This record gives sequence, structure tokens and C-alpha cells, in this order.
Amino acid sequence: MPDTSAVLKLAAECGVRYAQEVKDRKVSPSAEAIAALGRLRENFPETTTDARRVVEMLDEIAGPATVATTGGKYFGFVIGGVLPAAMAANWLAAAWGQNAALRVMSPAAAELEDIVLRWICDALRLPPDCDGGLVTCATAANFCGLAAARSALLAREGWDVESDGMFGAPPIEVIVGDEYHASMQKALSMVGFGKNRVTRVPTDSQGRMRASKLPKISARSVVCIQAGNVNTGAFDPAEEICKQAKEVGAWVHVDGAFGLWARVSPKYEELTRGLDLADSWATDAHKWPNVGYDSGVVLVRDGMALKRSMAMSAAYLQGSAQREPMHHVPDSSRRARGVELWAALKSLGRSGLRELIERTCELAQLFAANLRSAGYEILNDVVINQVLVSFGSAEKTREVIRRVQQDGTCWCGGTAWQGKTAMRISVSNWSTTRDDIEKSAEAIIRIAQQIKV
Ligand SMILES: *Cc1c(COP(=O)(O)O)cnc(C)c1O
Repeated sequence: MPDTSAVLKLAAECGVRYAQEVKDRKVSPSAEAIAALGRLRENFPETTTDARRVVEMLDEIAGPATVATTGGKYFGFVIGGVLPAAMAANWLAAAWGQNAALRVMSPAAAELEDIVLRWICDALRLPPDCDGGLVTCATAANFCGLAAARSALLAREGWDVESDGMFGAPPIEVIVGDEYHASMQKALSMVGFGKNRVTRVPTDSQGRMRASKLPKISARSVVCIQAGNVNTGAFDPAEEICKQAKEVGAWVHVDGAFGLWARVSPKYEELTRGLDLADSWATDAHKWPNVGYDSGVVLVRDGMALKRSMAMSAAYLQGSAQREPMHHVPDSSRRARGVELWAALKSLGRSGLRELIERTCELAQLFAANLRSAGYEILNDVVINQVLVSFGSAEKTREVIRRVQQDGTCWCGGTAWQGKTAMRISVSNWSTTRDDIEKSAEAIIRIAQQIKV
């Protein structure tokens, strides 16, 4: 029998050491570390390996080939770090090993999930009686929001989509902004709306939907808006769009994977106004709130519509009269995501969450200012935590990105923004300091100045 305590202690030691060293590590793993992963590539082992040795192998071989996303100098995609309370809660939750499908399987998991869903509605100033669910990611949350929209709009037309499917159903028109996120496309295709069967609304220089260009909407329309464009951080004009949609009974779904969290600060009131008027919201707790993976959240005003589209029935799955987690999401057996979410939100509180959001936005401003003062062009209005920068030609910008990633002081990715090649910077990590920004900007500027194109 493996000695459980010894293995857990070893994993904790390795984890603590990793967390201590990650700030000083090169952000991208070395070519040697990646090559060494080959040591793991063996045929399925015929015999047992001691659990301590298994953990040691992960620490020795896989650890060095991880990307130091938690270290404070990773600015790629929109990747949060992990708050200490959330990380520790994740370890504890692993020891508990709960299945959060049904309340009877884990009263603790179900209760924490109820609590965090209420807290998130409160923090984001959304209707307090929203229903919702904890899912893997914003893509899954977008899927759930659209499934609820589909159920509600078709039920109003006398069509039971859960029983009768989409063939022969009254048509639903889906409206999106031109700069909508790829995950919405995937969600639209998964839910049966079709990713090409959409009406695209023109957007402005920041990627915001032009409300004046909305097509005629009706009670059979789903309008998908964005809170936080993944490149610019821009927000669709929610108030105007939601008002128009409400008048005719259309459904508004918000993809707010990271941007929705700006609602915790009154500083961004202007940007986020009217988002509470929508019908469903998708967001990620693993991005800006730094809860760790995987932690998506869907919230729906018409809770019955979500439940109709997600509930599963079988004699042995009958739950209690209370909320049963699995009947609000696609999964049945699932990890207890509420544990880390609760730990993160409890540790931050309203003031801590607000401070985290405001601080990362200020650091994004600082990053942009440093690059601008070195003569490089910032392509977007830096309204929240996202910065787009061009170093001149597309070739030069791509070369800067490649060398920055290789250099390893920090990590930034690339994108194309309205015909221009850009470096994307997202400041989403709770542990990023001013010094991290100064050092990262310095490294990028040094590298850009070395390239003579
Ligand atoms: C990150 C992001 C998504 C997808 O999030 P996942 O958690 O990776 O599924 C969707 N929409 C926007 C705006 C995003 O920034």
C-alpha cells in the first residue's frame, strides 16, 4: 500500500518549491526541458511504480517543461495566475475527492456552489435571482447560455426543443458583432444554430458593435454581445442593444469571459453599463479573478430555461428539493469547482476583487506607456487590461514576438487586429508587480531595438 501522507507531503513540497521559484524562472521552458519530456514517452508500463517516484518524475521531468504562467510575467492570451487561497483550496479539494454532481454526493460542494453563484451575481451586479452553473470554461458557458436561449425562444413559439430537436423548429436569428470571439462560433455550432447562420453587425475601430447598424430584431432573435474584446478589451454598447432587444422580446447573451469582471469597479461603469439587462452571461473565473483552471461560469436570468436544457432524468438521479448542480450544466460527474471559487472570493472580498481588477488595468496602462515612449505604436484604446502594440512592419512585429518568447523574460503572443499584425499583452495575473512590467517592457524594447528592419 502506498503511504498516502508521504506522497501528499512530497507533492506539497514540490508545489511549494515551484511556487517559490516561478517568479525568477524564464517564462518559456528551455528547449532542453521540452526535449527531456521524451523520457516520459514509454510504452504503457507493465508493472507498478511507487507513488512517490511517480510524483518525483512529474516534478523532475514535467515541471521544468511547464510555462511559468503563474509567475507574473506571462502576458499571453488572457491567462490569470492562481491566488494562494484558490491554489491551497484546490489541493485540499483534491484530498476530499468530491463528485459535485448531486447534493447527496457532496453537501459541501453543492452548498459552496450555491454560495459562489450568488456572490458572483452580487459582485457583477447581475439580477440576484439568476440561476447558473459552474462549467469548464467560457466556451462551455457560452454553449449553456445559448442552449437556454434556444429553449426559451422556441418554447415561446410552442416548440419543445429538448424533446423535438431543431429539425422543423421555427427559425431563430442569431446576431453577432463582426469581432465576436471564436468560442462563440464554436458554441453556436454545438447548439445547432450554426456558426455561419449569423447576421454580423459591423464594428468600430475598437471592435465594438455599432448599435445603429443592428438589423431588425424580433422575439426570435438572439443577440450575442461582448463584454471585453479579446484583443482590445472593448465593450459592445450593452445598454443601447439590450433596450432595443427588450422592446421586442429578443434574448441577449453576453460573452464576458474576462471583461465582465470590470463591473466590480465603479471606474468602469461607463464601459459596462447595461450589461445587467441581458438574459445570459458567460464568464471565466480562471482569467481575471485568478481562481485557477478550469473555472467557467454561466448565469441565466430565466433559470428554468437553463434547467430545461441541462437537466437529466433517471430514477436513481432524483435529487432533493434544493438546487442539484448537475441539472444546470452539461456534465454530470464533475469536480467541485465551488471550492476554489469560494476560497478565492472569500479571500478577496469585494474590496480585494476590485483592487485586483483596477491594479491590473493600471499595470496595462503602464506597460502601454513604456512601449509608447520608446516609440512604438499602441493600436487600441487601453480601456481595461489589454494592450495591442505594433513594432512597425508585420515582419518586424512577428520577429519581436518570436524573440521575446525565446528570451524568456516575459511572454507575449501575437494577433492580427483589423489588418495589422500586433503583439497582444494581457495583464491578468494577481501577482504581477510594477517591477515585472518595467522589466518586461525593458526586455521587449531592448529586443525590438536590436532588430533593424
Ligand atoms: C478567453 C475567452 C473566451 C474563451 O474562454 P475559454 O475559457 O478558453 O473557453 C471566450 N470569449 C472571450 C471574450 C474570451 O476572452
